[in-house]
Order: sequence, then C-alpha cells, then structure tokens
Amino acid sequence: MKAYRKKRMKVDNTPFLPLDGKVYVMDSLNPGEKIKAEVLKTRVREHREIIEVLACPVCGNPMNWDPLWEAFICTKHGKKGIYEIVQQR
Ligand SMILES: [Zn+2]
Repeated sequence: MKAYRKKRMKVDNTPFLPLDGKVYVMDSLNPGEKIKAEVLKTRVREHREIIEVLACPVCGNPMNWDPLWEAFICTKHGKKGIYEIVQQR
C-alpha cells in the first residue's frame, strides 16, 4: 500500500503552460463557460513551464494544482470551485 501510494505521488500531472501563456479554465461544477485565468507562478519541468499557481477566476485566490482532482481548486469564495484547464487547439 505504501509503495503504491509512493508510486502514485511520483506522477506529476501538473499542466504545461501554453506557449502563448494564455490559460483558460472551466468550472467542473458549472461546465460550458470558458474563463480566462491568470497564471501567478510557474515552474520548469522537463524544460517546459508548468502552471504551479493559478488565480481563481472568481475571487483571485491563489490556487495550487490538485493532482488527485486534476484541477485547481478554490474554496475561498463560498462555493467550491474546481477549475480544469481547457486545452487550446
Ligand atoms: Zn475563488
């Protein structure tokens, strides 16, 4: 069990920062609306930038990546927001 958990923790699924730097998210609990989000902090992994901290599009609270939800989660503006990154084409 411990080994299993350790292996899971090693998988870093933090999303990459798009080349144009524009990040759009979608509220998982209220899908359909694409919202532009501000990137507050990035980190370099495998020579590419990944999004470490994203501002909540509703209240501006800094949100860290949640690897289990595969989303950025904000609990600061009353209703819980689960923001997934929308992949640009
Ligand atoms: Zn918020």
